Amino acid sequence: MTQPIRTTCPYCGVGCGVLARKHADGSLAIEGDPEHPANFGKLCSKGSALGETLGLDGRLTHPQIRGNRVTWDAALDRVAHGFRRIIDEHGPGAVAFYVSGQLLTEDYYVANKLMKGYIGTANIDTNSRLCMSSAVAGHKRAFGADLVPICYDDLALADLVVLVGSNTAWCHPILFQRIIEAKRARPQMKIVVIDPRRTATCELADLHLPIRAGTDVWLFNGLLAHLHQQGVADAEFIANHTEGVSRALVVAENTAGDLQAVAKRCRIDAQLLAEFYAAFASTAKTLTVFSQGVNQSSAGTDKVNSIINCHLLTGRIGRPGMGPFSVTGQPNAMGGREVGGLANMLAAHMDLDNEAHRRTVQTFWNSPVIASRPGLKAVDLFDAIHERRIKAVWIMATNPVVSLPDADKVKEALQRCELVVVSDCVERTDTTALAHVLLPAAAWGEKAGTVTNSDRRISRQRAFLPLPGEAKPDWWIVSQVAQRMGFAGFDYTSPHEIFTEHARLSAADNAGQRAFHIGGLAELSREAFDALEPIQWPIPTAGHPGTPRLLGEGKFFHADGKARFVATAPRMPVRSLDEEYPLILNTGRVRDQWHTMTRTGVAPRLTSHAPEPYVDMHAQDALLTGARSGDLVRVATQWGSLIARLRVSGEMPRGMIFVPIHWNGAYASDARVGALVNPIVDPVSGEPELKHTPARVMPFVVSWQGFILARQPIPNLDLTWWALARGEQFLRYELAGRRVHGDWSQWAHQLVKAHGAELDWIEYSDPNAGVYRAVALDQDRIAICIFISPRADLPSRTWLASLFAKDRIDDADRRGLLAGQPADPAADDGPMVCSCFGIGRKRICMAIAKHGLSTPQQVGQQLRAGTNCGSCVPEIKLLLAERQAAQGAA
Ligand code: SF4
Repeated sequence: MTQPIRTTCPYCGVGCGVLARKHADGSLAIEGDPEHPANFGKLCSKGSALGETLGLDGRLTHPQIRGNRVTWDAALDRVAHGFRRIIDEHGPGAVAFYVSGQLLTEDYYVANKLMKGYIGTANIDTNSRLCMSSAVAGHKRAFGADLVPICYDDLALADLVVLVGSNTAWCHPILFQRIIEAKRARPQMKIVVIDPRRTATCELADLHLPIRAGTDVWLFNGLLAHLHQQGVADAEFIANHTEGVSRALVVAENTAGDLQAVAKRCRIDAQLLAEFYAAFASTAKTLTVFSQGVNQSSAGTDKVNSIINCHLLTGRIGRPGMGPFSVTGQPNAMGGREVGGLANMLAAHMDLDNEAHRRTVQTFWNSPVIASRPGLKAVDLFDAIHERRIKAVWIMATNPVVSLPDADKVKEALQRCELVVVSDCVERTDTTALAHVLLPAAAWGEKAGTVTNSDRRISRQRAFLPLPGEAKPDWWIVSQVAQRMGFAGFDYTSPHEIFTEHARLSAADNAGQRAFHIGGLAELSREAFDALEPIQWPIPTAGHPGTPRLLGEGKFFHADGKARFVATAPRMPVRSLDEEYPLILNTGRVRDQWHTMTRTGVAPRLTSHAPEPYVDMHAQDALLTGARSGDLVRVATQWGSLIARLRVSGEMPRGMIFVPIHWNGAYASDARVGALVNPIVDPVSGEPELKHTPARVMPFVVSWQGFILARQPIPNLDLTWWALARGEQFLRYELAGRRVHGDWSQWAHQLVKAHGAELDWIEYSDPNAGVYRAVALDQDRIAICIFISPRADLPSRTWLASLFAKDRIDDADRRGLLAGQPADPAADDGPMVCSCFGIGRKRICMAIAKHGLSTPQQVGQQLRAGTNCGSCVPEIKLLLAERQAAQGAA
């Protein structure tokens, strides 16, 4: 076994350290890095499955123009000349880049430099706009700089952790594990969850406030007023280090001064609200963790500031265990902010509207121009493409046709655009399908550079795999295009050169006025860069150990050194519900998937927990739609519609539905939730209102439902509805149709022609009942199984999936296949709970019953479930609670 390469997980903003180790046989082992301060060796289900996502199946490995393979020279010339022509004819404002929190800091830096310093427009925005730009705007308004004042260690030091709009258990699982450990060590530590949904995160909560969607500012204004009324304000801190408290308090008192009224507005039990206010008031070490539930709102920036106001009033900021804490969704959202990857920022945290900053950057770059006003933010940028004001766009490492709001319009915009360039590591996505020029980019494991996580920690991503085909790092691709456009200053030969330039720029004209300062890394040698240990900025001098916390001494980054209270007048989401669209569509992540599934969708163990698109709904709302849990339903909004399986998990409040963001055209016929989301944005941050779109749900009537498990892909499925998930040694297709086939057997045989081999068929058909079951064997191994029924209650896929691991289907299996259920009930593991060890619900329930287990630890000792990443522990707790409730009822 070779020495492990230390790198960083590419999925979420926790930024976990990873060890990648090559075995002698060429296989790879992925483990958590025990020395990385973000995760100390742990990885969640997604990080643990990284090794399964590294195959070359589906990779984009050669440049293409209009679907034809071309040389790099031809592709780069096409991009450079295309951009040059459009700029010459229409000006720099007619071109744009749309980049991604997946890019490494060095990639981001070069793209931003080209656009703002050489092309001369700020039309470069990033998909991070969709995730945390409200936090950026809130930080800048309050602190004068976009910074997170605390560090992960504070999760263990806090006496009260308030999780707002964050399903931490699923979206930032390793941070959640750190909170669990802290709570275990100090049970008196209190956890409050503020979220309309009763998510897995609530399993750890001492208090859950199921807030009415969109009312967070009332709640935190109410808290501000309460803290003031209770005399908890830190008068000295306020006087010496802040401005604007009076106005903020007046607005808070006027809008939320009465607890009963706030409770009514937020639809929270007044006693629970009072309990939360009292806990916050009496606990100095309070950490308020917030995420997309706060940011993705038309009032996102005000929500952020209403939270920060409470920390400023009490002076609880930037000291051990206290402060507001924005956790980012993407691995390098923070790194993108550092280099100015957002359309309203310059590089190194400098401002576009600050003449001195523009001069500093232009002088440093020695660039011909410098953008002088903000460019178009993501939603506006694609609107401008739609209106043909932007005529060339270069999309890097992101899939906006799936992820942006009003995504059908985004698709239409790209169809109208003169020049669409996409650089990606995946060949077929909803967005690459619309590209004129496709550029093969390096993927995780092949590229090298840095990322910055949610607690300002810069970590190295290191390459441990060769570049496949002609794939190249993004920084190289952008530099090549820049050179072909005739620009000097892009002759980079390594990420090290780019990083040290970026570090030098952070120090330019910066005597401490700007928080982002990594001048201490500017002189790193190539070897020192390669060996760089994770370190938190600011790092102003060489040898500096990094900065775990900021602002604790009351020094802020506005010109006067003081923080700003922001008076936050509450307002409801822009689009209100009506008779036609009476439900709130909320969108978000599921436990085991990442973004638009382009990478996690290929890992079998990550697909089994949520194998098809679903909509979660309150039981009574479901009843009103006339659909039952497990039925297919259509979810519709003014902007679009999708089809999904109805789930009644018990997590949803009345009046709200939840649809995951992940499914795209490669994994389902009709499930891009972005197409349904209203394109309303926060007026300050430009972040879309992804968690509040008026919607309705109605039954999706089909004549039959079914599924296929097959070793080989089934091409050209021409059906009313389908969804695809990859399993171990098989593909799982969920199907539904309106047209009933007269001869299912003929249909099935036709479908599997692609398998090529002579198959041995076992079939059962009951035309009167509309039931058809078939299994095709290839020399005693199962090749394909097909189950069709007029109803959704079809046999367990988990049991059938397990048959694909067998070399021989025995007689008992054959009998079970025809009967549609295993002869031995224990052979069916049930829906997946623990993805790390492949343990299903039935096995866990049976172990709980058989051994009288009562804690997740006991379940772990018995089955290992929940002992790796811990993401499934909340579900195991629920199963234990269900068992205890059933015993109590008996
Ligand atoms: S929490 Fe999971 S997805 Fe996020 S960085 Fe860590 S291992 Fe990766």
